[in-house]
Amino acid sequence: MNRGNVSVLVVDDDPFALKLFARQLALVGIDAVHTCTGAEAALAELGRPEADFDALICDLNMPGMDGVQFLRHLARMRYRGGLVLVSGEDERILQSVSRLARAHKLNLLGALRKPVALERLRHLLDSAPTIQRHSVLRPVRKTYDAAEIERAIFDGQLFNQYQPKVNLADAEVTGVEALVRWRHPEDGLVYPDQFIADAEAGGLIDALARAVLANGLADVRRWQDEGLALQLSVNVSMDNLVALDFPDRLVREAEAAGVAVDRLVLEVTESQAMRDPTALLDIATRLRLKRIGLSIDDFGTGYSSLAQLRELPFDELKLDRSFVHGAAQDASLRAILEANLGMAKQLGLRTVAEGVEDRDDWDCLRALGCDLAQGWFVARPMPANEVPNWLRAWRARHRELPRSA
Ligand code: C2E
Ligand code: CA
Ligand code: CA
Repeated sequence: MNRGNVSVLVVDDDPFALKLFARQLALVGIDAVHTCTGAEAALAELGRPEADFDALICDLNMPGMDGVQFLRHLARMRYRGGLVLVSGEDERILQSVSRLARAHKLNLLGALRKPVALERLRHLLDSAPTIQRHSVLRPVRKTYDAAEIERAIFDGQLFNQYQPKVNLADAEVTGVEALVRWRHPEDGLVYPDQFIADAEAGGLIDALARAVLANGLADVRRWQDEGLALQLSVNVSMDNLVALDFPDRLVREAEAAGVAVDRLVLEVTESQAMRDPTALLDIATRLRLKRIGLSIDDFGTGYSSLAQLRELPFDELKLDRSFVHGAAQDASLRAILEANLGMAKQLGLRTVAEGVEDRDDWDCLRALGCDLAQGWFVARPMPANEVPNWLRAWRARHRELPRSA
């Protein structure tokens, strides 16, 4: 394979290790290798406007800034190139740092123990789809300011794509999750990771949630008119939930759209410590009294704790995809899943696994007793008008799926 266009940044405090990597990379056909002896220098290099690395190979044990801190910085700067972790530490440490990298949504290509054998490095780069497909990846994403996001919301540039949620036991489709997209006049399709945080910071999350909900209700109503009964899950942030009129507004809008409120599920991500726990409990309880579903999103990554789960009337728990994909091949991921599924069952929560990407993930989650699955193995997020056809095709073949598990 021709790797002539691929450029790699290697970070290691050991100059000998750097030389060795440069040689090994040359042997697998990568000549554009840049090296740094510390994490700070690497971050400075990545921050340069002309920086354009396809992959980063990083030693976890460095003086100054350790690998865990380095990952946090990479996530914050939205590094999108591939990442290879290297360490002389034992396998378990590499595995937990790998999980952390995935939880930060970094594009982890793999983890290697030192000394790195040439064949393992070659194998890892060979199986890295991003390096093969795109000769150049933009490591740093574009961001948008609040005024531009506000215009997008009010000019109707936002629309929803939908990703199905499927029952693992019988492959029945129970509903869809609305995922917002921005049809940007110059940049084309823009994904939520590029504007949700800025919408929150700019006080626009309420307007955004209204737009997503209005589009979602209109689509659900259309499917309903075609005889397709689907639940609608919508992502909301804590800031949405603490507006005291939120439950009543939701009910009014659902009624106006002709959709039963018990079709609605709100997926809440715990991003920060709860600012006003009493208001939150008040609102969450009223939502549940109105039979609106409440789901705790990204469980296992952030600040969500068992105590908060018990205190708030959630009825669904979504296991973050960083613990799901690859669980069949990773005993420690399975242990985490098992613990969380057991706990959810005791609390009477419905469980949803995100990031079910392949058959192994599907079989594994099914065997572990998870209720619902969502992910590329079932379907990628799709525009509203593709949902009915997808649903028919899925139903036509769904009976084959669960059996072999
Ligand atoms: P999320 O709620 O965890 O949504 C799931 C994300 O995982 C989606 O990314 C989806 O496209 C992606 N995904 C689905 N299946 C798979 C899979 O099998 N493998 C992998 N690797 N990924 C998969 P997307 O659409 O880019 O959304 C990113 C995040 O943006 C969402 O994460 C959610 O937190 C936020 N978001 C999306 N729509 C809204 C919204 O309307 N309001 C708010 N407040 N946040 C939103
Ligand atoms: Ca979600
Ligand atoms: Ca998630």
